[in-house]
Amino acid sequence: MLRREIDIKKERLIKMKLIGSLDNYKILNKEPEFKNKTIAEIKQRGNTIKKIIIKHLNLTESEFNEFENENQDIQYVKSRWSKDKEKGFKTITKFYKWYIVQPKTCCYCGVPENLLKNYFSKPNLSKRKRGKRLEIERILTHDDNNVYSESNCSLACYVCNNAKSDLITYKDFKHIALGIHNFWKTKFQDDNFTFPESFYNKNYKS
Ligand SMILES: [Zn+2]
Repeated sequence: MLRREIDIKKERLIKMKLIGSLDNYKILNKEPEFKNKTIAEIKQRGNTIKKIIIKHLNLTESEFNEFENENQDIQYVKSRWSKDKEKGFKTITKFYKWYIVQPKTCCYCGVPENLLKNYFSKPNLSKRKRGKRLEIERILTHDDNNVYSESNCSLACYVCNNAKSDLITYKDFKHIALGIHNFWKTKFQDDNFTFPESFYNKNYKS
C-alpha cells in the first residue's frame, strides 16, 4: 500500500478516534470487511482493535506503534476538549491539528516535554496527574482576550502554568520564567535547552 493511502486512512481513523466512534467498534461496521457483523461477532473471532487496525490498514507492527503514539495525543486532546475551546478552535479535529504541530517545549521557560515526562515519572512524583505533559495555555488572559484559539494559545509546563496567574501578562512573566528555566536547568544538567527569548519579543495583540 502506498504511504499516502495509509496517511489518508490514518487521518480518517484519527478523526473517528477524536469524535469517539472508533473505540466502540462503530467504525468497523462501516468497513466492507466488517459490514453487518455485530460487535460480539467481531470479538468472537478473537480480533482485538489492534489486530483489526493492523490488518485493515495493512500496517507493520512499527507503523501501528507510530499510530499508538499519536493515539496518546488523541486521548490528551480529547481530555482537554471543552466548550470554551470550541469557541476559538471550532472543532476538535482543528484543535488536534493545532496541538500536534506545536513545539513540544514550554513557551515561557523552554523546558522540553520529553524531559518533563521522565522527571514526573519518578516514584515520588508519579501520582501527580499533572506535569508529564505540557499544558494548553492562553497567552492573553485579560478582558475579552481570554480565549482559547490558535492565535492565543501555546504549550506551557505545569510549573509555569501554575505560576502565571491571569494577573500577570506574558511579558511580565518573563522575570519569573527565567527563574523557572534556571530551576529546570538544575534538574536536567546535561540537557542543552535554551530560554525562549524570541517568545517575549512577539506581540500578541490585545
Ligand atoms: Zn515552563
